[in-house]
Amino acid sequence: MSGYDLHTHTVMSDGTTTVEDNVAAALELGLEGLAITDHDTTAGHQRALEAARGTALEVIPGTELSAELDGASVHVLGYWPDPGNDGLQTEMDRLRNERARRAEAIVERLHALDVPVELERVRHVAGDAPIGRPHIAGAVVDAGAADSVQEVFDRWLHDGGPAYVPKYAVDPVRAVELITAAGGVAVLAHPGLYADGGAGVPEEVVRDMAAAGLAGIEADHPDHDPPARSRYREMAGRLQLVVTAGSDFHGTRKDNRLGEATTAREQVEALRARRP
Ligand code: AMP
Ligand code: ZN
Ligand code: FE
Ligand code: FE
Repeated sequence: MSGYDLHTHTVMSDGTTTVEDNVAAALELGLEGLAITDHDTTAGHQRALEAARGTALEVIPGTELSAELDGASVHVLGYWPDPGNDGLQTEMDRLRNERARRAEAIVERLHALDVPVELERVRHVAGDAPIGRPHIAGAVVDAGAADSVQEVFDRWLHDGGPAYVPKYAVDPVRAVELITAAGGVAVLAHPGLYADGGAGVPEEVVRDMAAAGLAGIEADHPDHDPPARSRYREMAGRLQLVVTAGSDFHGTRKDNRLGEATTAREQVEALRARRP
């Protein structure tokens, strides 16, 4: 299999595999490259680069910043940001700290809905990672209140759901600015999932992000339907942005398989050429 999987998570955020596991899986598949894009952190970079040293696999150190627009999530992938950049780290620290407070608020909402779940269990599931909804959903399954993480999302935790609490997030344009100021390349993640798979991220927002230095759009995401893929492919053409693909692998917390969506080398080189 050729190409680069430009979107994978690990236990550094809400995945269930280690960075070494992702590198081993990518080598096993014969991928050309792999990006580690944990939410709001660059913590896995050094280990990922070390795990791939001496192999043919190119590891691209990345992150996925939590931005928000009108109360709905907009995720911005960042490739090759300098992990020592103050502006980026300060903002990511804040994003992670606010997640801990929000987890408490979500657990309170679940209790009010008579859904049994222990905050201690949630913290245990998350381990050292910043707490995300998938960790909370896992703890609800552990408490026996649902059969799967997906069921917990469908019943209570989806965007705007009965136990949903928005998290502190940055503005999408600011996310692009933070990544580019840190020497990274920003790509809009899964725009078709915006507003719970409804309208998708509007073109005027993508245009503002492009003006701030956005380099690409992840048009080929496993959760995009064919119309969303074409719509964002065409938008990328109009705005002169690179079209990318990635699996959004989360280990056992999501059905997506590592390597199921890949970006060809030419597109990766086009992204690399846009490093500030
Ligand atoms: P958080 O960053 O805590 O808001 O959690 C976001 C993560 O939750 C995403 O990366 C997805 O993995 C997962 N997620 C969000 N919405 C859904 C949904 N409707 N169904 C399943 N997983 C979801
Ligand atoms: Zn995630
Ligand atoms: Fe995402
Ligand atoms: Fe992701």
